[in-house]
Amino acid sequence: MDTYKATIGLEVHAELKTKTKVFCACVNSADEVRPNVNICPVCMGHPGTLPVLNKEAVKHVLKVGYSIGANIADFTEFDRKNYFYPDIPKGYQISQYKYPLVSGGELAGVKITRVHLEEDTARSTHDTGDCSLVDFNRAGVPLMELVTEPVIHSAEQASAFAKELQLLLRYLGVGDANMEKGEMRVEANISVSQTDKFGTKTEVKNLNSFKVVEKAISYEIKRQIALLESGEKVIQETRGWDEAGQKTYSQRIKEDSHDYRYFPEPDLPKLKLSEITEFKKEALEKELGELPWQKRKRLQKNFTLKAEDAEIFVQSKELSDYFELVVEPFKENSKLVKLSTNYMLSDYLGLLKNDTSGATISKIPPGNFSKLMQMVGDNKLSSRGAKDTLLALFTDGGDPEKIANEKGLIQKSDEGELMKVVLAVIEANPNAVADYRSGKESALQFLIGQGMKATRGGANPDVLKKSFVVGLTNAK
Ligand code: ADP
Ligand code: ZN
Ligand code: MG
Repeated sequence: MDTYKATIGLEVHAELKTKTKVFCACVNSADEVRPNVNICPVCMGHPGTLPVLNKEAVKHVLKVGYSIGANIADFTEFDRKNYFYPDIPKGYQISQYKYPLVSGGELAGVKITRVHLEEDTARSTHDTGDCSLVDFNRAGVPLMELVTEPVIHSAEQASAFAKELQLLLRYLGVGDANMEKGEMRVEANISVSQTDKFGTKTEVKNLNSFKVVEKAISYEIKRQIALLESGEKVIQETRGWDEAGQKTYSQRIKEDSHDYRYFPEPDLPKLKLSEITEFKKEALEKELGELPWQKRKRLQKNFTLKAEDAEIFVQSKELSDYFELVVEPFKENSKLVKLSTNYMLSDYLGLLKNDTSGATISKIPPGNFSKLMQMVGDNKLSSRGAKDTLLALFTDGGDPEKIANEKGLIQKSDEGELMKVVLAVIEANPNAVADYRSGKESALQFLIGQGMKATRGGANPDVLKKSFVVGLTNAK
């Protein structure tokens, strides 16, 4: 069997976070649970109403375009995509066909075909007995559609791409893109071929988690190869994902774009973007902020973090903001930065994970976490002592130095002071000293133990050992 190459292109819809819907003044709230409260004659599709374009939604799509190095349209217009369904009361969806806002660009190594703006449909529910229900809160919510080129070659690469897109939308503040809430929805086009020519593709719709994106694509690749191997053909069709059966299933033979009878939306003005101040490149590029891949690079470069640690910070603004505040006082000191990373990601996150009171990372003020790290770096605290102090900081709060002092956790590292202890121990244990001098290594351990006892466990073990070696040599 010659090897098959899989080809995948993604179409991703993401709801945009704006104050109001894309063509009317209704509130755009993803959290509204009461049905049909954020509605008006415009988004209900009443005859005679007119859409008014929300500039914020356009800006969001343009920001995505600038981030991925795409071409921004100079001329753009909206189109009517005609079809009949209860979730689209006008009988058409306002979308963009010929002149998308954004085309080209690249994200996570994947070439982008286009990004356009359209309106979301109402939400229909079919599992309510003998009737279906429609909630129009979602109708007219600004929706971004991004289409990739067919340049993805594995299920893992496809889900990695979707994750990076979600992260970008969150960084830009243009959408929350939670897949389980339907704020981001992925459709995958998949084909397999043994030659350079593409095979017939199928489109799998409504993939509602990254895991499902991966599973559905893997399944579809296997299914198509099996079909071809048994001499059958892949039919171009739309398929769905059956979670219970862990397989894709045929939904319908795909419609062609001419079935939608696209034509320019006459109720919205055509836009010349370069003539509209808010849409200009200079204005929008200033608002982009640091992008995920820029942060990835900066963190690794400035702090020599391990790639997987850097990635944890790239994925969470909350964690990385905290981290950067913690290391601010000693950011040139790679040892302390490393120490802080470890204590934060393992110990502190561990405490937070087991906490049931809903505490967040800011529970220990970053300045106090810094101080604690500084004390560990200065050998004032053993790792055990640091963990105990961290726990006290977490449960009771307060100043790390004060806590460590009160709990008697401060290690004695002062060489002069420890030397006094060492000399007293040597004086009091002539037999052990003699054993050590006759070559018994274990005698040194015994003496160090006595020193530890004398300091009630508070001596820095490294400094104590060094002091004994010096003390024993000198006290001949
Ligand atoms: P359609 O007209 O069927 O919607 P498009 O050309 O608009 O097809 O492409 C839709 C998506 O399908 C894009 O993401 C594109 O990259 C992807 N695609 C196109 N051809 C293939 C193929 N042979 N295999 C996998 N994906 C494909
Ligand atoms: Zn409305
Ligand atoms: Mg298409």
